[in-house]
Order: sequence, then C-alpha cells, then structure tokens
Amino acid sequence: MKIINILIWWLQALGFCLAALEMSEDSFSNSDIAAASGMVPSHQFVYQLIIHRLVFAHRYHGHGTRNGSTTQEKRWMSRFGRNGATKWPRNTVTNRVYVRYCFANQRTRDEAKCLIDNALSLWAAALGGRASQQTGHAIVTTEAKDTNARILLCHEDEGLTRWNRYMPEDALVIRIDDGPDRAIAGWLPQGGPGRHFLYVARETLDRQYTHKVAHEIGHVFGMGHEHQRSDRDQHLLYQCGMVQNFAPAFNAAKAANPGMTDDQLMNGICNDKIFAFRYGFTLVDEYRIFTDSPGMSAEFDWESIMLYASPAGASSYECIRDVRYCPLLKKTSDAATGRLYVTQYMGMEATRRPSRMDAEFIRHYYPFNPPA
Ligand SMILES: [Zn+2]
Repeated sequence: MKIINILIWWLQALGFCLAALEMSEDSFSNSDIAAASGMVPSHQFVYQLIIHRLVFAHRYHGHGTRNGSTTQEKRWMSRFGRNGATKWPRNTVTNRVYVRYCFANQRTRDEAKCLIDNALSLWAAALGGRASQQTGHAIVTTEAKDTNARILLCHEDEGLTRWNRYMPEDALVIRIDDGPDRAIAGWLPQGGPGRHFLYVARETLDRQYTHKVAHEIGHVFGMGHEHQRSDRDQHLLYQCGMVQNFAPAFNAAKAANPGMTDDQLMNGICNDKIFAFRYGFTLVDEYRIFTDSPGMSAEFDWESIMLYASPAGASSYECIRDVRYCPLLKKTSDAATGRLYVTQYMGMEATRRPSRMDAEFIRHYYPFNPPA
C-alpha cells in the first residue's frame, strides 16, 4: 500500500494526473485508523484528520425525495438560507447550474489541479456522470476560460492582489492554504470577488486526500455535516469534552463566570456559538446540532462524505485506542438486552467518496431540467 502511494506521488510529481476512478480500489478502501496511525506519529494523526472550519453556520435543513420515486425519504443537511446563501444559480438558457472555478494563481493550478480533478471525479462517479436527464442533476463544474477557451486564473498576479478583470466575481477560488480545509457554503448573491472559495490545506495536498476535497466540494454545493442533523443524538454519541481546545475554553469560561455551574459552562461551550467563540472554542460550529430542521423519517447516512470520522477533532490521540476519548461515536443497542454500546466509525475517512444519499442531495436541489 505504501509503495503504491509513493508511486502515485511520484507520478503526480512528474506531472501525471491520475484520475481517481482509475486508481486501484485498494486506494480507497483501506482501513484508515490502522494505516494512518502506522504512517505518522500518533499526535500528528489527530491533527491530520478532517479538522476544518466552516464559514457559515448550518441552519436550514431541507427534505424530500427525488420526483417522489425514491423509497427512502432523506432529510438533508443543507446550509441554504444562512447569511443569504442559496443554491448555485441556474443558467436561464441552458438550465444548467454552472459552478465555475479558478485557481488562485499558476502555482496553485500546477500543484492542485490533479487533486481537484480527482475530487470532482468522485462526485461525477457518485452522480452517474454529467448533467443529463439520465443522471438527474444539472451541475456543471467548469474551470473558467476566456472566449478563446484559454484557462483563466483568479488573479492576474502570483501575489493574489489583483482579481482577474475577465473573471466573474462569483467564481469559486481554489487556493492552497496553511490553515485547515474549508469552503464556502452554497452561493452568495453579493460579496465581491473571492467570496466563493475552497481552500485546500497543505497537508491535504501533500497527501492527496481526494475525499477531503470532495467533502469541501459538498459544502460548496450547499451541504452541511451529517453529524449536525437535529436527530444525530439518536445515532451518535457526541462528546464535546473530547474535542480540541475544549479544556482551555472551559477553564477560561469558568474563570470568567464564577456563578455558573460546570453543567451550565459545558452547555454554553458546546451549544452556544457566541459563548463558545468568546472563549476560543471555535470548533463548536463543526459539531453543534442544528435544531431548526423539519421533522424526520430518514435513516442516518453513515456513508455520507459529509460525516466526520470518530477521531476527527479529537484532543487526544488516545481515541485511536480507546473510544472513550473520541468526539463522535456510533450508538448501537443490543436488541435482546436493550443495552447501548458505542463504537468508533470512520465516516468520511473510510467512505472516501460521496454516498448515494449525497448524490440525492444534488439531484434534489439541482434537478435536471431540459433547456428552456
Ligand atoms: Zn466540513
């Protein structure tokens, strides 16, 4: 497995772009905890997981079925409606939904194009191909080009100070960044150039974590996290106290609020965004439940690319060995005894591709319609 990874890395370094779909199945289905913890020091492992910040809080949760034909009703986590975020707009002539993207500068394109292409290929595979009546979706992801079909970069200079005068302001900017992976949620009607972005963490690029970029692309389309569904507590045990930076935030809040009980402090840190941010617990927005969703009847999508793995965001690598230290755990109950068990699950780490239900999200919000 390692030899294959090194070979792939070298091919990419030499300029070959390996399509994700052509990579061996083994590249996507390995056991993540075992493999990853064996490759890097364990304290680094926790940090190389899918820690990223979301720019907008999740709020609205849609629900529905595809043309009423699916047997499974699914209540999706979307982020539409927050801060003016909407679906990506539909071209009035072609009826397609173009998600136009550009790379911040040439260096970014040289480094990240393969990874972006592979992540988009994962989505294309999940959706069954391009926008069409058959695939049922209208999304067209396309790199920005000029009228002569030459590739356009987002900025005219490598220093990223001048927005390309030929670039639509709503183009999705792809950048490599020292921070965590992160992306815009949906489409914003206003905000100037650069408001739609997908930042790829340096580590994600170095390790060619295609599934993490696919997760961010899910956010770009407007998806929220599966583990933030309002019914998640039926399926997951969330241990806020095991998330990075909980302890210092809790202690700071306790020092500043001597009249509050520990339970009140914990509730504030884990559920109240303003309170949590005040004391530095910014990851609150990656985990807290969003309650303003419609009633539900759907299964929990354990295969979703939008679901964090159990150890994601853990403050301690002990989680790898002992589930008690993990932020998110899968609840299972013994039918005979009724006893509850919690176990680790790998979620997006193991899934490594958008799920069938993730694809249904796209078809639901971006259904294919024939040209006008
Ligand atoms: Zn995310």
